Amino acid sequence: MIVLGAGVSGLSLGWRLASSGVPVEILEAGPFVGGLAGTVREDGYCLDFGPHSFFSEDPRISKTVLDLFDPPLIPAGRSVKFYYGGRYLDYPITGTSLLFQMGWGSGIRAFGSFLKGRLGAPRRLVRSPLTGAGPPGRNGGDEQSLEDWAIESFGEYLYRTFFKPYTEQFWLIPARELSARAIPTHTRLSFARTLALLVRRGVTKGGASLVERERLPAVYPGTGYGEIAERIAQKVRQAGGRIHLNSRAAEVRRLPQGGFRVRHALEERGPQIEGSHVVSTIPLPALIRMLHPAPSPHVFSAADRIDYRPLIFLGMATQRQEVLRASYVYLLDRPYNRITEMNKFSARTSPPGENIVAVEIPALRESPLWRASKEELFDRCIGSLEEDGILHREEVKRLFLVKAPYAYPIYRKGYAGHLQVLIDDLKSRPGLHTLGRSGEFMYMDADQCIQRAFDLADRLLSAGFKTAV
Ligand SMILES: Cc1cc2nc3c(=O)[nH]c(=O)nc-3n(C[C@H](O)[C@H](O)[C@H](O)COP(=O)(O)OP(=O)(O)OC[C@H]3O[C@@H](n4cnc5c(N)ncnc54)[C@H](O)[C@@H]3O)c2cc1C
Repeated sequence: MIVLGAGVSGLSLGWRLASSGVPVEILEAGPFVGGLAGTVREDGYCLDFGPHSFFSEDPRISKTVLDLFDPPLIPAGRSVKFYYGGRYLDYPITGTSLLFQMGWGSGIRAFGSFLKGRLGAPRRLVRSPLTGAGPPGRNGGDEQSLEDWAIESFGEYLYRTFFKPYTEQFWLIPARELSARAIPTHTRLSFARTLALLVRRGVTKGGASLVERERLPAVYPGTGYGEIAERIAQKVRQAGGRIHLNSRAAEVRRLPQGGFRVRHALEERGPQIEGSHVVSTIPLPALIRMLHPAPSPHVFSAADRIDYRPLIFLGMATQRQEVLRASYVYLLDRPYNRITEMNKFSARTSPPGENIVAVEIPALRESPLWRASKEELFDRCIGSLEEDGILHREEVKRLFLVKAPYAYPIYRKGYAGHLQVLIDDLKSRPGLHTLGRSGEFMYMDADQCIQRAFDLADRLLSAGFKTAV
């Protein structure tokens, strides 16, 4: 079995298969394991790829991860705020926060606008991303725009006040061009969902209108989220699996006698590895472009229309403690959409007496921002940080830059059709599977990646898969 990518998906699959005696070879392009769930470490500083903590509604997956650690993982507070109009609103938004923190005027306008929308127009039936069964993009295509869906669900006022500015700041794409599914059911953008629950269930004491996953108890490894992936990698190796770092897959070739040969270097005569099955967790369009026999031109053109938004996470080391009133804060109208304080996750992510404040900067891969240096990014952000009283230039002693080119699948209107073209092509290639957030082009948290990896491993094993690599 050849696995492309050593993020949590590839590692978890490798762990399960190697533990059942299957020879496993994992190829990872980068210099360390973990992918988006990895941690960059420098001189005692640890920076994740955006704020991460571990939580799961599946007790078996929780136990699997918790059992990797002794001493146990530390509870992560996961207090989250939305900084809006000079006020810190609770996140996810509760009835209390909408009415009391945002102000009565705004709360009443929000409800008025919502009711007006409801009474004025017959409700169109959509498969809501709030309740949508099954993974996004896999069920064919209602393709309502995010704009239409948000106005229909929440009314014009909340759409104009929150959804449109936040969505467009985050995605850098007009809300009307995004699919309604761009609001994931359970991620940081689940702000939408909380509002839907609020207006559907009514305002209840204690703020019951919440996103369930946001409220699950969370834990964090002491020295970076990447410890989870590193421990799973240890398990893979203990079970006899091999992980090849700095080994970027460049070609996946089907062999005439069955099975695959994967070349993992850019040179024509680079190292090669053969196996009966390939599971890819790398970005889906990249896989399509390296397949032999090559897919037909319409598959390539569908692959060109599937894209991901990158992540730029700029860390600023400081001796200042207690910087934010939450683990992380969402903001509007800043050069960054989120600020994170690493000490709120674990004080061991910096040397003693220090802290890292990190900002997430929205960018597209083709923009100059993506290529900007950490100093340039710092210059872009520090003015706003100073204005908000969060951090001053002279308090920052060192910069760190973490980048991920394929962090967020972009659910543009029409994406589901293009995705289906790729899925259909892959179905015609027995022995080749895709898995994970990048591999399946699907929003997932790490626990869900582990779950899907275990499920695929179990399906392969129960189908009698036990062939030698
Ligand atoms: C900002 C942010 C915050 C998040 N917060 C949370 C959270 O709090 N809790 C949570 O559980 N989840 C969170 N997630 C989600 C979580 O990080 C992902 O679901 C998970 O890490 C995805 O793992 P994966 O293995 O499927 O994909 P990836 O991590 O993308 O792994 C793919 C791997 O393939 C490698 N690769 C790429 N191309 C090649 C190639 N050609 N050859 C070989 N290897 C290649 C990459 O280097 C990478 O290591 C967050 C994600 C983001 C972006």
